[in-house]
Parts: sequence; structure tokens; C-alpha cells
Amino acid sequence: MDKLKVGILGATGLVGQRYIQFLHEHKFFEIASLMASEKSAGKKYKECAKWYLDFDIPEEISDMVVDEISTDNIKKHKLDLVFSALPGEIASWEEKFAREIPLFSKVSKHRMDKDVPLIVPEINQEHFEIIKHQKKNRNFNGFIVTAPNCSTTGMVLPLKVLQDKFGIESLHVTTFQALSGAGYDGVKSMQILDNIIPFIGGEEDKMETEALKILGKYEDESKQIASANFKIYASCNRVNVLDGHLEVLHVKLKNDFDVEKVKEEFAKFNPLKDFSLPSAPENPITVLDEEDRPQPRLDRNRDKGMTISVGRIEKKDEKILRLYSLSHNTIRGAAGESVLEAELAFQKGIFEISER
Ligand code: NAP
Repeated sequence: MDKLKVGILGATGLVGQRYIQFLHEHKFFEIASLMASEKSAGKKYKECAKWYLDFDIPEEISDMVVDEISTDNIKKHKLDLVFSALPGEIASWEEKFAREIPLFSKVSKHRMDKDVPLIVPEINQEHFEIIKHQKKNRNFNGFIVTAPNCSTTGMVLPLKVLQDKFGIESLHVTTFQALSGAGYDGVKSMQILDNIIPFIGGEEDKMETEALKILGKYEDESKQIASANFKIYASCNRVNVLDGHLEVLHVKLKNDFDVEKVKEEFAKFNPLKDFSLPSAPENPITVLDEEDRPQPRLDRNRDKGMTISVGRIEKKDEKILRLYSLSHNTIRGAAGESVLEAELAFQKGIFEISER
């Protein structure tokens, strides 16, 4: 099969690097354009990316010349689709690209737009339906598909299981979020060494709204996604960890539950098992029974960084379930998730390879 040619917007940043990790030597996709700011444009990738991953820059990428961001690159490199990891302030580029080709984004700008799907492939693939309205509303040849905020991703997979099996009344969640979640220049070392910062701008609001959209239902008649109907109370903290967001969830369920049954439901949850998607984890949720797990350093890379590790599952009261969840924020919470969305959309025929 001819591979689809992809571009990466924000290719030199922390999420951009993870896109490269997932897209180089990919079965369906081939990286054709790396786009970044004018300070990187014209330089070889290895000369301008502040590479932070613990393996070398893939050989075929390291000498590629970085492009200045422009929709001219669509024609120049015959791009079939783009992935976006741009800073929020310049995310208006996304619409310019989507006017022409499909765009899969990790940026928050369009996540809550009524005609934009906010996808977690194991949870809400029927939300892709809204793309037909988006194309019409916005006169796009392509479309925008978004992936959730990294801290939202860490909790929605277990929440989906709990919602379907027991019903959810409310959720209190407290996060311990890694430094990479703030981008390369995000948190100064003098602020975070020997410290925890009990505030992440905009994060709590994102967790409290995005999860409800993801767990909501697409309604064809109203051409809308009706959000799930329960309340989320989030408290977010930045901690001195490189990668991996740890979260503590207290979920009030609608029905009585048994802890062993919850673990069993988590372990068997695998709605993508009949698709052959290169980035899909073997187990979307991994249940750990040790009393001191999950931990960022020990568990974040499990299953290519694409599984959510859960542990310390306890019944705190008749209807209150407590669990810890851990996700790799730049992989499952960012580029890995976005690539998985594109793989699923491609397999479902939502877009095709363009005629060259
Ligand atoms: P980052 O490390 O700061 O990287 C930013 C990227 O954007 C770099 O490639 C940079 O290129 C490029 N860029 C900056 N200004 C530009 C301009 N004017 N024109 C074109 N390109 C420009 O940030 P990040 O952590 O990768 O985050 C990227 C996006 O993903 C953000 O919207 C963030 O909120 C979101 N996100 C991040 C995470 C995470 O865990 N880090 C998770 C989910 C979502 P230069 O190198 O040339 O400056």
C-alpha cells in the first residue's frame, strides 16, 4: 500500500517529538514535512529540535530540513493529512490546514466546538459522525479532529467503564502532573525543585468539561453531542516528574459495586480489539494490584506508553470508589492518542489517500 504523507505542525516541540516517535516507520503514514517557527525553518531537524527522548533522533528525520509553517507545504509535499502540536496562541493555523486536508490536533482551541469531535478511540468513535456537519458548516475539504487534554485522557478510559457498568453520579479528581505537560520551556527549575505547584492554568476547567463531552452521546437529529450528565470537581498540581500524570479519583457511582467486579471490567475493556491499529495498546487499561502502584517512573512506558495503569482500587463507602490512574502525558495523553485517532479514522474510511 502507498503510505499517506503526513505533516507535523510544531514538530520540534515535546509533543512534536512524540509524533515523530509514533509516525516514523509507521505502517500507514510517512512523515513528509516537519513544520515549526521561523527560528527553526531552513535548519536540519537535529540542529533545531531540543530532543528530550531517551533514544536517538531517527536517522531519516535528523537531516530533514524543517519547513516554516505554511499551507503551501500541502502541495509542495503532497500531504494527505497533518498532525498539530502548536502552541494555543497560533492555533488559527489549524483551520487554514483543515480547509484543505484532515487535521488531527492535540491543541485545546477547537476541542469544545460543537461541530468538532473530541475523540478517545476506545470510547466514542461514533462522534466521528459530526465531521459531516463540520465540513458543511465551515466549507472545509478536510476536517478537524481533536484529542483531549493530557490530564483528561488519564481518567476517561476508567470512567467509561464505570459509566457503562455502574453509572456515575459525580467525580472528585486530584492530579500530580509531570513537567513535560507544560512544554519544553514550561516550568522553571527554580520553581519546581523541592516543590509542588498547586495550580495549572486552565487545566481544571478542561478536565471538568472535556470528559463530559467525550462520555456524551452523538445525536444525529440535533447534529450535536449531548454531554454526559454528572459533575466533575478537579484539583490540579504540577510535580517534579519528567513524564507521567498520576491522578486520584473518588467516583460516586449510581449503583452498589464490588471491587473485584470493577477490576474485572477494567481488565476486559478492549473495544478496539477487532481493528488492526498499529498504535493501539494490547490492554487500554492495566490493573495493578501492588499496594504502591501505579508510579510514573515504573509504569508510564507500559504497552508503548498507550495503556492507562490503574491501582489502589478501594471501596471507600457504599457507592464511593477510589482509584489511582497513571497515563503517559506526551504519549497516551498527546501524540500517541492523536495518531491512534488517525489510524482509526483511516480504517473506517473517514478519509483516504489523495490522488497524486
Ligand atoms: P513545546 O515543546 O513548547 O513546542 C512548541 C512547538 O510549536 C515547537 O515545535 C515550536 O517550534 C512550534 N512553534 C512555536 N511558535 C511557532 C510559530 N510562531 N510558528 C510555527 N511553529 C511554532 O510545546 P508542546 O508541549 O509540544 O505542546 C504543543 C501543544 O500541545 C500545546 O498546544 C499544548 O497545550 C498541547 N499539549 C501538550 C501536552 C504535553 O504533555 N506537553 C499534552 C497535550 C497537549 P520552534 O522549536 O521552532 O520554536
